[in-house]
Amino acid sequence: MVDIEKGIKAYSREGLIEFIQNSGFPTFRAKQIEQWLYQKGAKSYDSMTNLSKDMRARLASEAPLYCAEIDDRQISKDGTRKYIVRYVDGKTAEMVAMPTDNRLTVCASSQVGCAMACSFCATGKEGFSRNLLPGEIVEQVLLAQEDMGMRVSNVVVMGQGEPFQNYGNTLAALRFLNGKDGLNIGARHMTVSTCGITDGIQAFGAEPEQFVLAISLHSAIQETRDALMPRMKNQTLPKLHDAIEAYQADCGRRVSLEYLLIDGFNDDDEHLDSLIEFCQGIQTHVNLLPLNNVPGSPFKPAGKHRVERFMRALERAGVEATMRDSRGGDIAAACGQLKNQKHAE
Ligand code: SAH
Repeated sequence: MVDIEKGIKAYSREGLIEFIQNSGFPTFRAKQIEQWLYQKGAKSYDSMTNLSKDMRARLASEAPLYCAEIDDRQISKDGTRKYIVRYVDGKTAEMVAMPTDNRLTVCASSQVGCAMACSFCATGKEGFSRNLLPGEIVEQVLLAQEDMGMRVSNVVVMGQGEPFQNYGNTLAALRFLNGKDGLNIGARHMTVSTCGITDGIQAFGAEPEQFVLAISLHSAIQETRDALMPRMKNQTLPKLHDAIEAYQADCGRRVSLEYLLIDGFNDDDEHLDSLIEFCQGIQTHVNLLPLNNVPGSPFKPAGKHRVERFMRALERAGVEATMRDSRGGDIAAACGQLKNQKHAE
């Protein structure tokens, strides 16, 4: 059995420095290793030519460099590419690369599987397997960059998993991606999406970087939200609202609220009014999302007129809203879909 936790990718930047110091190497070596791993995407210690042979051999035995591989790739007509990334322990996670003009956005996973069991989500059906390590999250972005032959400009942690249930590793990954010795992606170009873990929201607001926060709301009526997101029952809507207020008091940044419009479930006027009500007292941007079809799921996307009604009403109420267009629809680019599809083959 591979012990992935022993690998070099388990470390945050501080952890890496500490490990290098404890191994008796000078501190500047940590920076060189960070550059090799997270800027140049080195796949072996042997390629790290500015480290001595002895040092490379010691690193290889004390903190092995495990590399993930692209296990499967699908390319959409719109240029979106969806990947299954396989880690050395055989676990897999999905990742999506979305090119637009001169930008490249990567949607990364934070966990293998997910414990949140949201009823509309394909990953939720799979259950939780394990947390991804900082370097394993960064690695997805590096693999996408390499495969697309294009610099990654934006990262959204909206793939599989709940990032705030893997808070430390997700933050450590964002810091490598953001760092001058990493990919140097601006903090404002990186978004973390949570199902609404309130202590995570508060901690995130206290971080010094200006990372962007998105929250999957999907309903501002408690009963509906409980049915859609059963594990969020105890983190009620008033608690979520309080957490957003505290977050904004702390960092002053706006949050995106993700709202998946589901036919006959959360798309009527009562839900619309509750959504508008929820947006009072906080600075938000509502993202109305089309539901991606999950095989065997009873949920269907809301009709176009409902989506437009939501858009118009939110605008009238002074709540900024956008409709996100669905990308990669022809390649099952919705959360967990590709893996489940593979499974069924
Ligand atoms: N756990 C985090 C991030 C991963 S899910 C979160 O909940 O935000 C990323 C987004 O995909 C969430 O907004 C989630 O609700 C949404 N999603 C899940 N299943 C979907 C589906 N079938 N169609 C469209 N969006 C979906």
